[in-house]
Amino acid sequence: MNNHDFRKHAHQLVDWMADYLEQKENYPVTPDIQPGEIYDKFPDKAPEDPATFDEIFTDFEEGIIPGMTNWQHPMFFGYFPANTSAPSILAEMLMSTLGAQCMSWLTSPAATELEERVVNWLRDAKGLDSTWKGVIQDTASTATLCAILAARERASQFSVNEKGFSGQEKFRVYSSQQAHSSVDKAMRIAGLGHQNLVKIPVDNHFAMIPEALEGAIEADIQNGFSPLCVVSALGTTSSTAIDPIGEIGKVAARFGMWHHIDAAYAGTALLLPEFRWMIEGHELADSYVFNPHKWMFTNFDCSVLFVKNADDLVHTFSMTTEYLKTDQDEHVHNYRDWGIQLGRRFRALKLWWVIRAYGLAGIREKLRGHLELTKLAKKWAENEENVIVETPNILNVFCFRFVEKSLSTSQQNDFNKTWMDRVNASGKVFFTSTILNGNFVMRWVIGQTDVKRKHIQIACDCLKTELE
Ligand code: PLP
Repeated sequence: MNNHDFRKHAHQLVDWMADYLEQKENYPVTPDIQPGEIYDKFPDKAPEDPATFDEIFTDFEEGIIPGMTNWQHPMFFGYFPANTSAPSILAEMLMSTLGAQCMSWLTSPAATELEERVVNWLRDAKGLDSTWKGVIQDTASTATLCAILAARERASQFSVNEKGFSGQEKFRVYSSQQAHSSVDKAMRIAGLGHQNLVKIPVDNHFAMIPEALEGAIEADIQNGFSPLCVVSALGTTSSTAIDPIGEIGKVAARFGMWHHIDAAYAGTALLLPEFRWMIEGHELADSYVFNPHKWMFTNFDCSVLFVKNADDLVHTFSMTTEYLKTDQDEHVHNYRDWGIQLGRRFRALKLWWVIRAYGLAGIREKLRGHLELTKLAKKWAENEENVIVETPNILNVFCFRFVEKSLSTSQQNDFNKTWMDRVNASGKVFFTSTILNGNFVMRWVIGQTDVKRKHIQIACDCLKTELE
């Protein structure tokens, strides 16, 4: 493709993009297709001959778009959002055009320095300890794995990396029963063994009980285990429960453990001063992750890991082979040494662009708008006959279910699952579910970039209709 054609087609695509953003509500939230349908639309063999832009674009519109879940639809209330925004999309376009690979300071000095500046902005705007340092990773799963690997290396005087586990202590890691499965996965990948993840009970708000944590650690020590790390959740996935960070931090400090805070979704709320209570005592922690790609209007992927001591990361991950050495290494951050990947995208650009375009005040305004809409939705659920809200609603997430006393738990669960399936099959709205205290509940997450009051109303009407 020559530059003339590139310019022409890029303009065409920008028009398509703007139309999509304007009309995204006209698409179904989820596609009405069967597994294999899209696969079968494409030929068995890769094409030998080049296709024109028009041919490719027709296939995109007719073959791909009908199979997409429209994550940016304002009535996508499932999982956690992966919200985008126009400023973030513009920055992504520039990132693609520059095609920079940001593994070292030298390979993209501006990317490295902008990354340092932007994560420092965020650290301060969120009220995190001003001595902490941050690095952008792809996802919270990777960031949590990095934290657990760094904890393992620090506790073993950086010897597991070199010698493997032979002769090592029997490490134990702790999280609440409600922690995200990325902690379980990290245990496996870090070679610590999934069975050495101890799941601590939660209180009736689904938050970790620090006394139970302390008891589990003491019992493990008696049995010859070494407590390595505790992962607390600032916003669990099922219900956005907030573990008591300060209390957990004190327990971790008493036993010399690493304390990692998983704030993947809810961490964005710290931009609102009224939610800073959630991280009281975090100064005792060692690391903290949150995903701007969930609730901060920044395209997936973009996850920020903050650490108290960046040397723990660098000593764990640094691998400077001859061809990577540069004259500046002593004086700069080479972010490849702060995580698993060697090659890195220029993710700081979109984060910076979003912060510039909205301003922190603009982001706060949007977050507060979501919190207000959540109150509205929750009020609907509370007022609806036989519907109960199962979670304390601290942020913009709550869980609810239909209750009919004459039905057994499993019948009620079946009823609620059928209710959700019918609501989702309408194509108007999308909810996901979880199990809390043995009950099937729908989760309502109100964090879409463009969600408005009318969308909450349509969703309430749809829930009600499918209940009748
Ligand atoms: N931690 C929590 C609390 C989450 O809710 C999630 C995903 O929803 C994750 C971690 C994993 O996030 P990612 O997809 O960025 O790995």
